[in-house]
Amino acid sequence: MKFYTIPAGPFEVNTYIVFNDNVDNAEETKNGRKEGFIIDPGGQENKIEKIIKDENIDLKFILNTHCHIDHVIMDNYFKEKYGIDIIAAKEEEYILKNLEEQAEYLGFEYTGDVFIDRYLKDGEIIEIEGIKILPIFTPGHSPGSVSFLVNDKHLFSGDTLFKNTIGRTDILGGSSEQIISSIKNKLMVLDDALKVYPGHGEPTTIGYERKFNPYLI
Ligand SMILES: [Zn+2]
Repeated sequence: MKFYTIPAGPFEVNTYIVFNDNVDNAEETKNGRKEGFIIDPGGQENKIEKIIKDENIDLKFILNTHCHIDHVIMDNYFKEKYGIDIIAAKEEEYILKNLEEQAEYLGFEYTGDVFIDRYLKDGEIIEIEGIKILPIFTPGHSPGSVSFLVNDKHLFSGDTLFKNTIGRTDILGGSSEQIISSIKNKLMVLDDALKVYPGHGEPTTIGYERKFNPYLI
């Protein structure tokens, strides 16, 4: 598995393009195309499309860690461009109902309503060639915030867990008790060595956050 991190949009959302770079006998089966997906497309579409083309990625779906506007602003664009589904937790429909207000408030150009095509289920693995995605529901930043554990090796934590901090909980159904409980009970039970890739900023590890994150001590 390989991935690219592309900070995108005015809030520098980490958009991730994740794909299987270990394609055996691909030549005969699908002209070397590598199955993959995109997490939280927030902009930089030209750069992303170039990566998809250059790496010969067969984009399967869009995953949203949650549906605040900075994380979903390019969902419809990629959905139409590649004919793929938007996948997120049903609980985020509450956030999507407020998209236009969020756009206005945060200065985004509103590009239309976003609809979830497929709902995630807590603990129900999604599989593509060479990649297993385990959705871990971690509500608190928003009601349907999800972290994705990919191939047991990489945790994409959205706006739940950041390096040295946690997601804000003062907007649209956020809850500080819930986010702390989610992180402690669902993420801090994972291996110390596990790499964490947040929705904004630098990567970290579970072990580092266990030791140094002031919200978790
Ligand atoms: Zn957010």
